[in-house]
Order: sequence, then C-alpha cells, then structure tokens
Amino acid sequence: MKIAIIGAGPIGVEAAVAAQAVGHQVRVFERGQIADAIRQWGWVRMFSPFGMNSSPRGIARLRQSGAAVPEAADLLTGREYVSGYLDPLAKTLGDSVSTETSVLAIGREGQLKGENIGEPQRGTSPFRLLLREGARTDRERIETADVVLDCTGVFGQPNPLGTGGLPAVGEAAAEQRILRGLPDLELDWREEDDRARFLVVGGGYSAATMICELFRRQAGRAGGRILWAVRRAGALPCPLITDDSLPERDRLARKANALVADGEVELIAGATVAAIERTGGQLNVSLAIGEIQRVVAVHRLLGCCGFRPDQELARELQTQTCWATEGTYPLAAALLGATGGDCLKVPTPGAATLRHPEPGYFALGGKSYGRTPNFLIRTGLQQIDSLLAQLPPAA
Ligand SMILES: Cc1cc2nc3c(=O)[nH]c(=O)nc-3n(C[C@H](O)[C@H](O)[C@H](O)COP(=O)(O)OP(=O)(O)OC[C@H]3O[C@@H](n4cnc5c(N)ncnc54)[C@H](O)[C@@H]3O)c2cc1C
Repeated sequence: MKIAIIGAGPIGVEAAVAAQAVGHQVRVFERGQIADAIRQWGWVRMFSPFGMNSSPRGIARLRQSGAAVPEAADLLTGREYVSGYLDPLAKTLGDSVSTETSVLAIGREGQLKGENIGEPQRGTSPFRLLLREGARTDRERIETADVVLDCTGVFGQPNPLGTGGLPAVGEAAAEQRILRGLPDLELDWREEDDRARFLVVGGGYSAATMICELFRRQAGRAGGRILWAVRRAGALPCPLITDDSLPERDRLARKANALVADGEVELIAGATVAAIERTGGQLNVSLAIGEIQRVVAVHRLLGCCGFRPDQELARELQTQTCWATEGTYPLAAALLGATGGDCLKVPTPGAATLRHPEPGYFALGGKSYGRTPNFLIRTGLQQIDSLLAQLPPAA
C-alpha cells in the first residue's frame, strides 16, 4: 500500500514508522518542521512521562540507530521531546519525509465528492493530494496514494475568543495584539511588559500554564497586572481532577488557582468576551458577565480557548464528523459522555470507530478527537496499532 501521512507530529511520525515496519510504502508531508505544533509550546514541561508519549517500536528503532533515548519516567519539555525523540526518529525515515510541504487539499482521482456513494468503486481510484512546497513558494504538485492518514492535529486552528465560539466583535482587527496558543514569552517579551496589564482568556491547562508563566515574569516588579477571564462561574478557575494520576498536571492547576486565591491574579469568572477595541497601545476588552458588562483596558491579550480541526483539507472526500465535536463520527459517539475530566480515563475505542465513509481515509491523533480536549499521545499510539492491523497487508 502507498500510504500518504499528512503531518509529522508525534502521531504522523509514529504512524510512518509503524507502517514502514510492516512493509508499506510511506510518504510523510509536513508543512513546517518535524513536530511543528509541539515546537511552538516547546518551553512547556509535558504532564505525561516519556514512556506514555513513545512507542516500544520507536524506541527500538532509535536505539538501533545508535541514538540515546530518554528514560520512561522522564517528564520532558516539548522541546526535549522533539530533540530527544521525534526529530531523530523522523530522521530514520530518510527521504520518506518532506518538511515544509503543505497539503492543501485531498480528493479522489476522477471522482467528485458526491459520486459513487457507498459503492465499492469509490475505493478503486487513488487519492490525489495537492501539495505546496517550501514556506515561501507557490510551487505546487500532485501526489497520489492508496491510503491517507490525516495526522494534522488541531493546534493550527485556535478557537476564537468571543461568546458562543464566534470571534468577538473587533477580534479580527485586533489580531496583531492577541497571542494565541502557548507562545514562548521569552522570544517576545519587551521591557514594558514587566509593567503591562495582561488578560488571559480560557479555563483549561493552557490558560493555567500562561498564568503561571506571566506571574513568574512579572513577579516582584511593580505596576504589572494579570487578569484571568473564565467562562465558568465559581471560585476555582482551573478545575482539579480528583486523585489526578498525572502529578505535574495537578501541580499546574493548583499553582494557577493559588495565584488567584493569594490575590496575585484577578479572576473574572462567568465572563465571555463580547468585543475588543484597539485604542492606541491598549485593547479595551468588553466582557459580558451575566447581565453586567465590564470593560478592561489591557496591553496584551492571550487567547487560550482550545483548538479545532481543519475541516477544509478533506472537504472533497466523503467524511463523517460529529456535529458537536468535529471529531471522526463513530469515534465521537463512542467517546460521548467521556468529555472533560481526566483523559487517562477515556477509553480507546477500536479501529472500526476511525472509519469514514471514504474508503482508505483516516484521521488519526488529535484530529480524530476534533474539539474534544482530552486526547493523549498514548491514545494516538494505540490508534496506529489497531488501524494498521485492519489494513490489507503490504504486497
Ligand atoms: C502545552 C501542551 C502540553 C501538552 N502536554 C501533553 C502531555 O504531557 N501528554 C500528552 O499526551 N499530550 C500533551 N499535549 C497534547 C499533545 O501535544 C497533542 O495531543 C499531540 O501533539 C497531538 O499529536 P498529533 O500528531 O495528532 O498532532 P500535532 O502534534 O498537532 O501535529 C500535527 C502536525 O501536522 C502538521 N500539519 C497540519 N496541517 C498540515 C497540512 N495541511 N499539511 C502538512 N502538515 C500539516 C503540523 O504542522 C504538525 O506538525 C500537550 C499539548 C499542549 C498544547
């Protein structure tokens, strides 16, 4: 089988290693560098130990190549995970991996989206992938494949800040002043930021990480202020998981909550962003808190409201995604009721739940969960094994 893998995050790289090991012909296309999404938050320490984020297959392959491998219990930063594991592992795939190569669209040779619905004929022609090579070129070409593994994750599409999941009024115009995801503040910190007012929006672990990092940077310096707006009403901005088996995750949530309890960070609970207005060097952010409207003037705004999958990429295929999560539909149904809470307790349903009506197209990894935030790399590794066991063997 000729397998095209889109995205060289942990799941794309591991899927390529696994598919190659059983004799499939593999091509990986990555729009940035290896593990580009993880590099963007590479300064953050992961909460699951290395043993959970790696496969025995990958480790064996790295050892064979002579590279040193982290210990199973190590809690690596994203950067260490990339440099100590994913990057060298991807190198063992040689020229099967093309970096700086974006997949723009996936279709089927000679068949439109609406044709041959449910017919075996649908699977008889190869996939066509439209690629763009290089970061700053418009050089495009077509690749074909028998199977497509869409491992593009969700990190490239941060959710907007506004009420109801829409962009807030004025959000687009203020884009240049909004930081999204988990930016490395080290790279972007200006002297005046020591005394700046920051507003962090979002109530998950990403927001908790940024709150702690902002406090660390401003601690002991007069004049700065950190505000934290969360949608939930209540005293604890970052909910705790009872008897959390990932101590690093628990420590983070407690630390961020303690900063609120100690008055170091001002919590604005039950709030959503209604509008953002640029005024000189500041942003006036209108927060809707029940019936009340409060406008806060801040210098910088951090959006930590989660991520969503790219729905355009496979638009010409017959895909089936959940209307609520945008994850692969049968999988989303199997996960129903397991949203929120502890990702360690979420079951890993089998390969049948990864199927789309389009034969040979599978979303693996973060994308298969869509907007559901509790995907773990370990789950993606299990998906790879169960899917490869279901594919026809390599010729
Ligand atoms: C701060 C932080 C800490 C985390 N800590 C942990 C942890 O401790 N344990 C854990 O299990 N999980 C953790 N996660 C979550 C974990 O990082 C993700 O679930 C995981 O990276 C998903 O892997 P993936 O390969 O599916 O997608 P990604 O890692 O997002 O990789 C997708 C890749 O696809 C590429 N791509 C996207 N679109 C295209 C395209 N059109 N063409 C070509 N390439 C494309 C991207 O550039 C990227 O390299 C953490 C996340 C964050 C933000």
